[in-house]
Amino acid sequence: LTTIIDGKALAGEVEAETLERAKKLANKAIVPGLATVLVGENPASQMYIRLKHSACSRAGIRSENVLLPESSTEEEIIAKIEELNLREDINGILLQLPLPGGLNPQRAMMSILPEKDVDGFHPRNMGALLLGAERLVPCTPLGIIYALERLDKKLEGTEVVIVGHSNVVGKPLAAMMLNRNATVQVCHVFTRDLAEHTRDADILVVAAGVPGLIKKEMVRPGAYIFDVGINRVGDKTVGDVDYEEVSQIAGAITPVPGGVGPLTVAMLLRQTLNATEDQTKDQQ
Ligand code: NAD
Repeated sequence: LTTIIDGKALAGEVEAETLERAKKLANKAIVPGLATVLVGENPASQMYIRLKHSACSRAGIRSENVLLPESSTEEEIIAKIEELNLREDINGILLQLPLPGGLNPQRAMMSILPEKDVDGFHPRNMGALLLGAERLVPCTPLGIIYALERLDKKLEGTEVVIVGHSNVVGKPLAAMMLNRNATVQVCHVFTRDLAEHTRDADILVVAAGVPGLIKKEMVRPGAYIFDVGINRVGDKTVGDVDYEEVSQIAGAITPVPGGVGPLTVAMLLRQTLNATEDQTKDQQ
């Protein structure tokens, strides 16, 4: 029997829990604050920003968006981030990616104070993650770890296969899985025989952005499947896994939409609370 991992329901629980934590802080006149920085007018980015702000409003987090013009230079983005770094009412800062015009986000990302880096992309936080001292970490991998914990899925000694080696998903997730003593294989577009690897997986995470990439015969029966992909096909949003087929043999699977996406946003809320609590320790 396949468990459908209801990301939306889990996210709702995290929102409620975050709201409780925010209420405790409110007793001490502390309101967690998140600032998002959006450069340009990418419609997908605009939608993600809206989703994040509405989740904040349900979870007791004050949030604001800084909108910068498409023509912004790296220096202008950094100047804005440095302003936010100095503000005491802002505990978390998130730079929405991708930046327009092929701007490299690396320097802008590095200008975010590591303590306020709720997306976990700062090299200092990434480095800590790699060294096994997780602080603020990328939200999508964290959401997957969170769901596995909630499902009581043991990670130690488990075969984990990750398809996709991006800085946002594949690489940080591999580190998080190693920190929990799983055996990890990371595949990508240059992997010679994808199926040979994916068939090993007790836990299979797919973040490639290729609809229908994972078919039934590539999956071990009973495997837990996390489909991170978000693809527009016609007027539908689908993942990277052939859901119809694979859900028949999987032990558990995330739907798209309603799986990994909502979990990712929920982890942003959690990390904003973590950051706020850390920054206001003296006041509590
Ligand atoms: P990316 O787009 O930067 O890179 C794609 C990765 O997939 C690379 O490692 C590439 O080598 C690999 N890949 C591409 N084609 C492949 C193939 N045919 N076989 C094997 N590997 C292949 O990665 P990303 O930014 O992690 O995004 C991946 C997907 O996940 C996208 O659809 C994106 O929209 C989605 N995403 C969703 C969330 C969420 O919250 N649900 C978060 C981040 C990304």
